[in-house]
Amino acid sequence: MVLCMGLFQPTDLERLLDSGCSACGGKRFSFQSYVDAKQGLMEGEPVSKLAWAYNGEGFCDGIFEIQCASCNATAFRSEVCPRCNAEGGLAVALESENRFVVPLECPRCETQEVTYFSMVPAITTYESRRAEKAKTETALLDPGFHGTKAACKTCGPFAEQRDRCPLCDSPGPIRPRPS
Ligand SMILES: [Zn+2]
Ligand SMILES: [Zn+2]
Ligand SMILES: [Zn+2]
Repeated sequence: MVLCMGLFQPTDLERLLDSGCSACGGKRFSFQSYVDAKQGLMEGEPVSKLAWAYNGEGFCDGIFEIQCASCNATAFRSEVCPRCNAEGGLAVALESENRFVVPLECPRCETQEVTYFSMVPAITTYESRRAEKAKTETALLDPGFHGTKAACKTCGPFAEQRDRCPLCDSPGPIRPRPS
């Protein structure tokens, strides 16, 4: 296993979508993954909807479960942390609260409007190679929602979770992600 990668690779995704479910042959799959999102905050309160901020490789990198949408057979399941690959890290990520501070303002220019970046568990349905938009039930302040970075329109990024894994809190350095 290459350490900078998640366990499920884009080539695995293509293979699965082409071959279909090994139990029923179905081509519709439900993916559970940790994906990047961002949201506008004003004084620490959301002022916009959670917007997705991931690409195809980032999506693949965060996958932790794949189920056939027809027969529910499990095509892939991993218990390691989707971000740093720590053993048992998935359960910690899903059950723990956000450890990354939600800023009330930009510490440089003191504007109260900031963009908060996060990793959020989401479900995406694929039919052959077409993906529907990811959906999540997890909001800021819910367990499983984990902040990674905060930025101001004027000053750029002013805080980032680097020392520990944002999802499972394992000590860094954590692996780079595909971009
Ligand atoms: Zn199936
Ligand atoms: Zn600022
Ligand atoms: Zn982790």
